[in-house]
Amino acid sequence: MVVFDLDRTIWDHEDISATTPPYRALDASRIADSGGTIVTLRSGVRELLGWLLERGALLAVVSWNVEWIAVEALKSFGIHSYFSFLIIEFHPRKDRMFEKLFRASGLGPKNAIYIDDDEGMVRLVKKRYPEIHTILYLRDARSMGELRRLLESLL
Ligand SMILES: [Mg+2]
Repeated sequence: MVVFDLDRTIWDHEDISATTPPYRALDASRIADSGGTIVTLRSGVRELLGWLLERGALLAVVSWNVEWIAVEALKSFGIHSYFSFLIIEFHPRKDRMFEKLFRASGLGPKNAIYIDDDEGMVRLVKKRYPEIHTILYLRDARSMGELRRLLESLL
């Protein structure tokens, strides 16, 4: 199972909860909220998610956000259906969100790879689940291409 953060990982915006749906698509990789704020999907995200599904991976989101807003953004980018599990809650305890994810999926930390741009979050989850494999986005991998090469060696 490959678990993704959203803000600054899947898209460039640092706080999707601060944007206001409805969104309108500007092109394949950009949406604008009702106030004109533009959110850009990281280049290569769809290809990476599709490639992971082809390889038999389960995909999940663990995100500190207002759930319905993040879900609207995922739908507007057309990537909502790629994910089997969405754990999106408005608090910073991602360790607790992972508890829910493992309970819902029946999988454990040994079978999970977690990608997040926030070093504090990675540390928090790793402390609770030392066996989970973590990738710090923008440091361990700086693009979806780099992420794919890293994941290729792990899957
Ligand atoms: Mg983030």
